[in-house]
Amino acid sequence: MSTRFDEVVASEHEFFFPAVRRWPVALARGEGSKVWDVEGKEYIDLTAGWGVTVIGHCHPRLASVIAEQARTLMQTTNAIYSLPQLDLARRLARITPDGFTRSFFVSSGAEANEGALKLAHAKTGRSRFIATLNSFHGRTLGAMGCLGQEKYRARWSGIIRPATFVPYGDLEAARAALRDDVAAMIVEPIQGEGGVQVPPSDYLKGLEAACHAVGALLILDEIQTGIARTGRWLALEHSGVRPDIITLGKGLGGGVPIAAFSATDEVLGSVVAGDHGGTYAGNLLTCRAADTVLEVIEEEKLVERADRIGAQVLARLSELALRAPDKVREARGAGLLIGVELHEAERAARMHAELRERGVLVNLTAERVLRLFPALNVPESELDMALTQLEKLILD
Ligand code: PLP
Repeated sequence: MSTRFDEVVASEHEFFFPAVRRWPVALARGEGSKVWDVEGKEYIDLTAGWGVTVIGHCHPRLASVIAEQARTLMQTTNAIYSLPQLDLARRLARITPDGFTRSFFVSSGAEANEGALKLAHAKTGRSRFIATLNSFHGRTLGAMGCLGQEKYRARWSGIIRPATFVPYGDLEAARAALRDDVAAMIVEPIQGEGGVQVPPSDYLKGLEAACHAVGALLILDEIQTGIARTGRWLALEHSGVRPDIITLGKGLGGGVPIAAFSATDEVLGSVVAGDHGGTYAGNLLTCRAADTVLEVIEEEKLVERADRIGAQVLARLSELALRAPDKVREARGAGLLIGVELHEAERAARMHAELRERGVLVNLTAERVLRLFPALNVPESELDMALTQLEKLILD
């Protein structure tokens, strides 16, 4: 007898592009950090819709603000002022470092990075970019040119303009690549898709100085690390680095498609009207939702919570690594962006699937790294249940 899930798979086969790899799961609803599939099976979601639903699935306040805005005004055109956009930009300016008062809104992280690359070109007049190996910056053509993973780029090499790639965390390699024809270096404060790689503590400040020494800009891609994910509003606060352009996405909308880029006034001095736009840039519904997400994070003190709970989780997983050194290579991360690297890719894939069977959703990235990036308000009891399953699988 065919199940509801079988029907979903058959439908997808018939009506959707075969362009994405799926897990054998079709979710029907969510609440907080729990989700239920079409058969009614419950999961604890430590993926948070890929690091997006930072205040949990279907937060009641976010849901009602979205409904209210949907009844008020959802969309205009870039030619008309958007009041929710201004509210959001004003609130965002409280989070970004001094000098980053102005933002621009788009619909996806890749698009925010495209905007950042354009800004860097506008400011410097230069066309070469430096990016890091194993980075992830999105799948549009410009962003893909900076994406340091061959598996994503190989089939499109004929139509992308590749950046110069240097190893992540290697300041000397970046210095050697930075010449006076470089518009910008783009880098993640912690590589997320690349396996939750945390660079040496002086790396980002070093890049800032090295970029500026040759008149290049530093673009910090905080799409995954921003919006309280690492226990700070922005991950740049850990190192004190001051980039020239910051890109944000994912958690900003808490589930609605919105991303942003922000830059210093010095960089924005090169922008003229008509340089950028987009049908959904400043969309009232997504801006209003994002403004509410930031408000909830502030009110529920989720920055501090991500820091505190994240440190506990990391300590527990580091202890696990010590207890099972033959299986676990290392646990690392910051706040609630945590990676558990196993020695063997096959075991990691098996564990990823077994956790799902046991009702825990995590991500497997960089072949051997189980990545946990739950909602910042994930209940401790649910986190404990999920980690207990992970420990059992490793230790059994
Ligand atoms: N930059 C980073 C660091 C990311 O992790 C991602 C997505 O995972 C992106 C950019 C691309 O964002 P989007 O998928 O919204 O285009």
